[in-house]
Amino acid sequence: MTVPIRADLAGMPDYIIPRQPPGAILLNSNEGPSAPPPSVVEAITRAATESHRYPTWFSEELVSRLADRLGVPEQWIAVGCGSVSLCQQLIQAYCAPGDEVVCAWRSFEAYPVFAQVAGVAVRTVPLDAEHRHDLDAMLASITPATRVVFVCNPNNPTGTVVRSEALRRFLDKVPSDVLVVLDEAYREFITDPDVPDGVPLALERENVAVLRTFSKAYALAGVRIGYCVAPPPIAAITTKVGVPFAVSRLAQAAGLAALEHADEVRARCETVIRERERLREALLEAGHEVAYSQANFLWLPLGESSARFGEHCANNGVMVRAFGNDGVRVTVGLPEENAAFLRAAAGFGQSADVPTHTPSRSPSKSPSLPSTEEK
Ligand code: PMP
Repeated sequence: MTVPIRADLAGMPDYIIPRQPPGAILLNSNEGPSAPPPSVVEAITRAATESHRYPTWFSEELVSRLADRLGVPEQWIAVGCGSVSLCQQLIQAYCAPGDEVVCAWRSFEAYPVFAQVAGVAVRTVPLDAEHRHDLDAMLASITPATRVVFVCNPNNPTGTVVRSEALRRFLDKVPSDVLVVLDEAYREFITDPDVPDGVPLALERENVAVLRTFSKAYALAGVRIGYCVAPPPIAAITTKVGVPFAVSRLAQAAGLAALEHADEVRARCETVIRERERLREALLEAGHEVAYSQANFLWLPLGESSARFGEHCANNGVMVRAFGNDGVRVTVGLPEENAAFLRAAAGFGQSADVPTHTPSRSPSKSPSLPSTEEK
């Protein structure tokens, strides 16, 4: 007899591995477009020679360096195997069956999946007409059962942001026994001065945790390292519920080395930001609706054309990510990759098998739960 899995997990969506033709341009996972700097690769290689030893338990050296950088005490930092695992650890630490998690929708697909794994209900709150978090509606959806609220800033997959005044007002109104997780995976790509840095907000309150990652701006998605900045009780329990030694020696060494390259990281981000603006302009000129993005990707709310647009791009050698009938997310790549994407996009609607595309905003609808492709 097959051992029965938990009944409430039976309907869990499968992990979808996108078809990836050899040589395709990968603009579907919000990764950095270039390999990490050689000295970071060297640090990883050096760490590999000590692979027979377990890593340090708390990533002490990295924690100390991050604490210096961020101007927070070391007890405020928890390091994880990518910030995605920190999302899961926070849900595990704060939610029990019967509790609820609140998040925007669409937003990062891992939130509802991790809630489901923890046996926790999710209240998803539709984005507003500009594809932004609707903070008032999120507030209204908090119930006595709510334990964790995710605010993804900038939001994946739309790239839209929550600004300082609105976020402060929101934080002031969230009950103090509800944890607000400010997920800032794309923080380094923000140019809008009105988008707040979550760390000072966490320093002012007892119920705010900030998530950051080395996966995007630092081009280390493949080594898996991220961190949480939060008041010591939150940071401590986040670490406690994590898998022991999940942050490998290689990941710790990579994170440490990457922090030595602040100038290069900045320069790379600036290139991505310039390309983002150029790409957005070109798409707007071509008649697409494109959300205002402060991340390393753009959101095209293509509605029911989304899947066809995604397939069309793939057939032209460019992988992008379609999200149901809502839209398509395109990661900003190198200039030549973006040019290839623009060429592909320009051909959409011209071949006989593809209906003409009319740019339209996706209606906010009750969320379809995600396929699990958490990037
Ligand atoms: N948060 C958001 C909003 C993301 O988009 C991602 C990655 N796609 C993560 C967290 C997780 O990143 P990682 O686990 O690679 O640090």
